[in-house]
Formats: sequence, structure tokens, C-alpha cells
Amino acid sequence: MGPHGHAGLTLILFSFLMMPFGYSFEAILIIILATGISLLPDIDLLCGWSHRGKTHNLAFAAIIGLSVAIIFFYSMNDLIIALTGFMAGFGGVISHLLGDIITYKSFTPFTPFSKRKIALKYCKSDDKKVNGWLVIGGVLAFVFYLLIVTGHLEEIIQKCM
Ligand SMILES: [Zn+2]
Repeated sequence: MGPHGHAGLTLILFSFLMMPFGYSFEAILIIILATGISLLPDIDLLCGWSHRGKTHNLAFAAIIGLSVAIIFFYSMNDLIIALTGFMAGFGGVISHLLGDIITYKSFTPFTPFSKRKIALKYCKSDDKKVNGWLVIGGVLAFVFYLLIVTGHLEEIIQKCM
């Protein structure tokens, strides 16, 4: 996936995941932060490390989740905010892995639990259509989330009846 495809997929996943939690600072923070963090694993391309290696697995997701949680806990001294940070950090990386799994280049997402290589080979990572649809889907999902949790969708439906 390209960066915009990863951001789009994360917006889709987290907009729906956060819907049951309603309209809250923490829920919006998780969605935005996870979307940003979902771009992080491809930092390996910038660092010259082997691509889809040490930044593309469960261990890296846990490290990022814990790091964000610790930073949040010490800066705001609040356990709920720390948990929010963990969910955004861990979930953002997991969402990145899900986006990469559908492409051709296999990698080992279950490290350190398993060395199994996975690639579903559904599309190329720079597929313009797939990346484009993920962005559109992400924006729509986030708007849908906001309309639902703020009660605006209900208002609109009632006005139309
Ligand atoms: Zn990647």
C-alpha cells in the first residue's frame, strides 16, 4: 500500500471500531492518531533497512503501542489516555500490516510468535485504484462516524420523513 492507502484503510477500520464509543475526545484522538501512526512502519524505506522486516510485525506494533502509552501517561498522568495511546499505536501498526498483507510482497507479520511469511497477492502495493478507493472509503467512513455519533444523521433522516 502507498501512504494514502494505509491512511484510508486505518480511517475505515477505526471509524467503525470507535462508533460504539460515541462522540468523545478519546475516540477522535484514537482515530486521528492511529491514522498517522499507520504510516510509520514504512520508515524502513527511509532508513535503508530491509523493507517489510523489523517494522512490519506484532512485536513492532506492541513497541509502538507501549511507547505512545508511556509518553501519554507521563505527560497527562491519566490511565485512560495511556490506554487510548496504546490502542492508537498498536492498532495503527496492525492496520498497516493488514494493508500490506493483501499485496504481493510477503513478510512475517506474526514475529516474534511465528516466522510464517504471508502475502494474499490481491493487488500491487502501488495499485492506483485500490489506494484511491481506500482514501475515498476512509473519508466517507470518518464523516459517517461523525454524523452517527453527533446525532446529525438521525436529525437528517427525521427531517426527510
Ligand atoms: Zn509497509
